[in-house]
Amino acid sequence: MAIFVSPEEKLKQDKYISAVLSLVGGQGKKAFVYTLGCQQNEADSEKIMGLLLQMGYEKTDDEKEADILIVNTCAIREHAEKRALSIIGRFKHYKVARPDIVIGVCGCMTAQEHRANQLKHSYHYVDFTLGTGALHLLAELVLNALSKGKRRFLLDEETPKIAEGLLPVRESSFRAWVSIMYGCNNFCTYCIVPYVRGRERSRKMQDILDEIRELAKKGYREITLLGQNVNSYGKDLEDKPTIADLLNEIAKIEGDFIIHLMTSHPKDASREMIEAITKDKRTKSHFHLPLQSGSDAVLKRMNRHYDTQRYLDIIKELKSKNPDIVLTTDIIVGFPTETEEDFQKTLDIIKEVEFDTIYSFIYSPRKGTPAYSMEQISEDVKHERYERFCQVQNEIANKLNQKMQGKIYRVLVDGKSKGNEKMYTSRTEGNKIVHFECDTDHTGQFVNVKITRADTFNLFGEIIN
Ligand code: SF4
Repeated sequence: MAIFVSPEEKLKQDKYISAVLSLVGGQGKKAFVYTLGCQQNEADSEKIMGLLLQMGYEKTDDEKEADILIVNTCAIREHAEKRALSIIGRFKHYKVARPDIVIGVCGCMTAQEHRANQLKHSYHYVDFTLGTGALHLLAELVLNALSKGKRRFLLDEETPKIAEGLLPVRESSFRAWVSIMYGCNNFCTYCIVPYVRGRERSRKMQDILDEIRELAKKGYREITLLGQNVNSYGKDLEDKPTIADLLNEIAKIEGDFIIHLMTSHPKDASREMIEAITKDKRTKSHFHLPLQSGSDAVLKRMNRHYDTQRYLDIIKELKSKNPDIVLTTDIIVGFPTETEEDFQKTLDIIKEVEFDTIYSFIYSPRKGTPAYSMEQISEDVKHERYERFCQVQNEIANKLNQKMQGKIYRVLVDGKSKGNEKMYTSRTEGNKIVHFECDTDHTGQFVNVKITRADTFNLFGEIIN
């Protein structure tokens, strides 16, 4: 069951915000947040910055001038943790030069006991850590550090909570993240997320709809609904709304914007959800459905709770409702015990489905997960398979992109491309990248573009009035 921050607790935290404001407000003190990892972390960082602004800090993109530095960490791979530790290490020089600055670490890495202990005992200049389910406590920790010089290392000893009313400072004025749920119940054997982000907690539907209405009013053009598994939205709420119910309500909100869902789990992809996605023009163009492997034996060892037939049935249904839907997926190559035969099955299924884009990864063992102690396959074999995999997928992506030539697509303009003043980068409603030349800056707007050229990863076009 989702646990929400109570009004009393909120009031208490508001007092801490005011107390920090009285200490730092109006002095031009600056805040810097370094974000590693996924979109969920980016969304959390926007909320962290929102809280810091309420406390009287000003946002800076230059870490050297910051009076408070926060590192929002990722734990998905050990490499991400090493990167976080190296950034935290770099911040030591600032604290040595200016002992009054505050350094905090939050995000998935801090939810692991050994990392929280490491930060406490080996990084003496770090003032606090806090987990992803305790962001609302930020002001209390900052006040502690400022007034009492007290270090606090919250190891998510409290149950992770959902805090409404945090006002994010959004990085973009036209693309927005909206978290609809947090945590995960699935325990895929390669993944650390359920251990560091806790169990599934859904936001109330009304709160999500209010946030989307507000974004629509402000003219946001793209909204991504975030959750580790958005398909199981609502199962932990009292009235048990489903993702289909949520999408049907979003469809009633006025405004010219598109919606993406990030990310889904095939085991929870219901018929109602597919119906809701494919009937609304805001959601029907793109769907991301992680497959991970084309071998049922590997899927079983991954603890994914679906087989390839079930996956293909979902794809068939999506394509039958919208033959032009852009399909994207995630694939892990070289999972422990994957045989050549298993790998061939992955190649077979990607040839059959023809995904527009695949976010593919070479399996890397993650300490703290069951797959870490499974029989690993050699790095050479993993890399050789990965090369073959990319070759097959690149051919498919190229073929699909070529088919788009001569057609007109509505795209959302991201901004100028690097190195060419007149070149703009944009994305179709199906989330495919299109470059085009233009004399007028349409950043943040929808325009129509005719595709004139295509390669494996890019589409090029010309703007149409
Ligand atoms: S569904 Fe699996 S891969 Fe995704 S966050 Fe949960 S455990 Fe990790």
